[in-house]
Amino acid sequence: MKSKMGFVGFGISNYRLLRVLGKEYPSSSFFVSDMGSIEGEPMEFLKKNDIEFEDNGHTERLMECDSFVVSPGVSPFSKVGRAILESEKLFTTELEVSLDILKSKPHGVIIGITGTNGKSTTVTMLSHVLAARGKTVFQGGNLGDPLAGILGETLEYYVLEVSSFQLKWFSRSDPRFHLSAVINIGEDHIDYHTTYEDYRQSKLRLVDMTEGFSLLPVCEKDFFNGKPQQGKILPFSMHGKTDYCYDMGKLRVDGESFDSGELPYEGIHNFEDTLVVMALANLLGMPMRGVFEDLKKYEFLSHRLQLVGEIDGVKYYDDSKATNAHAVVAALKNFNPEKTVLVLGGKEKDETYIELLQVLKGLKGIIVLGNSMKSLIQKMRTSGINFQLAGSMEEAVETGRRNSCSGDSVVLSPAGSSYDLYRNYKERGDHFKSIVNSLAVGK
Ligand code: ADP
Repeated sequence: MKSKMGFVGFGISNYRLLRVLGKEYPSSSFFVSDMGSIEGEPMEFLKKNDIEFEDNGHTERLMECDSFVVSPGVSPFSKVGRAILESEKLFTTELEVSLDILKSKPHGVIIGITGTNGKSTTVTMLSHVLAARGKTVFQGGNLGDPLAGILGETLEYYVLEVSSFQLKWFSRSDPRFHLSAVINIGEDHIDYHTTYEDYRQSKLRLVDMTEGFSLLPVCEKDFFNGKPQQGKILPFSMHGKTDYCYDMGKLRVDGESFDSGELPYEGIHNFEDTLVVMALANLLGMPMRGVFEDLKKYEFLSHRLQLVGEIDGVKYYDDSKATNAHAVVAALKNFNPEKTVLVLGGKEKDETYIELLQVLKGLKGIIVLGNSMKSLIQKMRTSGINFQLAGSMEEAVETGRRNSCSGDSVVLSPAGSSYDLYRNYKERGDHFKSIVNSLAVGK
């Protein structure tokens, strides 16, 4: 009898994987189970290939499967997540299966990048540098296309954004990556992981899974003391003192030094991502001066602290991708607090907001969009921090405009995910930008 593999969740990564698995595992049959409804192309695929499925909820039929391919979005602490773990059956996730398939064939260099913030920026920056050097590159994973989508192609480099959710569902910790980087670790996704320590350890698993070098913030290095490691850890720092560091305006990489002021962008957080990219490029044997020149032509992704308009001398920034406090704290380092009005809002993730609250204290104004940010509002009240509420983005921008004057900045850097009011962070950022633009035109 064929063993039955259960697909828990049928989003883009599991769908893409199932498309290739029929060929890779001919001795298996498949069952798909999704909490929501399955529609469009994925549904047509299931019907055409006569694959059994259920949607709008998981039932006992799922638990009858012999093994599980779990969507990263399914928390191990959710009802179905716990049931899978307690069943003691095999589980895995799309990225793990895809890496195993990739590694069983001729393949290029596999680079994994994780971190609380800066993953997408770092992945796209590194891909930009590699492409500028004439290399063939796949960039994806948690960003854009899943690895399963390109398993038929052989490329020189695979630059993979890896999330804590994906790492949590890897069944094994043996090395799959040639190189990796953990950019930073701050509080995020506590609603999924239930504790900061679980979140942190999920991220740090990437280091265990690396056979070559892993770049790691120097403050996380002690975690690996006394633990045997297949690869080698290279600590980096944003405060000097290591071979790979940012030090008073200089990016220092393995004995060479570059002036961050020469780059066409600013922000310590962006220099952190840049340092990681330069260090990885260095480990890949790329010439550092050439890489630094390539970085000058990198185009930032939208919604990452992007200037989207100026009205009456007030600058408006869209940082909609800042969905946790760590990113907001990083964003605010770029502004004079007395001249900054911050727009917060969105779905919370059980963060403590300790550092954020300190930073909020000095701001000119705070506007909270929507009514989801209950815990932060409560904490601001307890700390005596004033804020105004806005029922819509229109109201938030208008309040920002009223509370600012020439020389100020209004920054949408929400600290929460967009799912309370929008489909995603892009829609939220685009809405902010379109309101700012329409006000600018009305002038
Ligand atoms: P991720 O893919 O990890 O979400 P992004 O590159 O999309 O990271 O950026 C998400 C948010 O984090 C944006 O608000 C961006 O400005 C901010 N950010 C980028 N790099 C860093 C960093 N090194 N430290 C803190 N915040 C950062």
